Amino acid sequence: MEDIKEIIQRIEENRSYGLDTLLSRVNGKTSQIIYKALVGEEISVEEGEYLFNIEDIDELSLLVVAADHIRREDVGDVVTYVINRNINFTNICNVWCGFCNFMAPEGDERAYFLTMEEIAQKTIEAWENGATEVCMQGGMHPDIDGRFYIEVIKTVKKAVPQMHTHAFSPFEIYYGAKTLNISEEDFIQMLKDVGHNTFPGTAAEILDEEVRRIIAPRKIPTEVWIRIIKKAHKAGMRTTSTIMYGHIDRPYHWAKHIAILRDIQKETGGFTEFVPLRYIPWNTRLYRHSKGKVRPGPTDLDQLKMYAVSRLMLRGWINNIQVSWVKQGPQFAQFSLTAGANDFGGTLMEEHISRAAGANHGQYFPPEEFRRLTREIGRIPAQRTTTYDIIKVFDKETD
Ligand code: SF4
Repeated sequence: MEDIKEIIQRIEENRSYGLDTLLSRVNGKTSQIIYKALVGEEISVEEGEYLFNIEDIDELSLLVVAADHIRREDVGDVVTYVINRNINFTNICNVWCGFCNFMAPEGDERAYFLTMEEIAQKTIEAWENGATEVCMQGGMHPDIDGRFYIEVIKTVKKAVPQMHTHAFSPFEIYYGAKTLNISEEDFIQMLKDVGHNTFPGTAAEILDEEVRRIIAPRKIPTEVWIRIIKKAHKAGMRTTSTIMYGHIDRPYHWAKHIAILRDIQKETGGFTEFVPLRYIPWNTRLYRHSKGKVRPGPTDLDQLKMYAVSRLMLRGWINNIQVSWVKQGPQFAQFSLTAGANDFGGTLMEEHISRAAGANHGQYFPPEEFRRLTREIGRIPAQRTTTYDIIKVFDKETD
């Protein structure tokens, strides 16, 4: 297939014909599956995989335009963003996930470990710059235990009581509970008791054991991730959901992963959003040592399909789908908002992890830029909370 710029141009030409014309122009299985989503029927893993394998430009255009149509029907034209700051409290870790270049072993010249005073200071700075959330994750430092995570939340809440804490993946919940020798439920409750707010649904990468054993053999198994995320939801804690794709995974894994998230959501209703994260390969051991067996991240076309297919598969269950300006760059993230997504993510203020793996973007994205990029595609920008309550709709050009 051609260059992504040509593909985008041809999608835009086809978009101008409208959904009904495209539906009548595309026959066969693709239009049947897409039609199911349009009328609210569920798409299976096999059907999702089929859509991920589309190559024909008319079929691709139909997929993107249908996803955009469903987005408009289900969540309207508002594009949301959250003002937040990442606080990656330590990169010291001995888990050695192959895709991660953020971690550093103890004693390494890149290794760092923020003090509680530094975490408090960063929280205050974030609040003074308009942030409503601090997003906190870190390496599995061998010397910390569950009390450290509790202390982090207490520190943030003491510094700025109103600050929303979005922190600790299911792996960190597992680690915290294990190091204290208590149940995961009890550890989640301890975090709740000190005022913790939401968890990121990261550390899943791809919910498939064959894939995980290769890319992150020392991380929690798929069933443990699922168990912990459900426990968090059942304790009343919301989480995001993510996928990290474009390495050794295939369209089958993507469709299966999305279907697992959908099943969890049917049971718990605890996911706030779905966040596709492209694998950034350049400085990672997984890519450098793979002798060509690991892909250098998803193609641009894969990314468009991820937004569109997830919008169709998650319809009625997870309605917020987030682009990643850090990993995609602002322009491509903007186009992805016309392929099924409705959320721009966070301003972040600093973002160490993607940059460590070789991403060009990261650090800080001003809210005015989110608003400008949103208006350029004829949509309405709005600032939201972590849990998608609208703080302010910017419906005037001068906002
Ligand atoms: S992804 Fe997390 S657990 Fe894995 S090596 Fe990196 S910091 Fe450690």
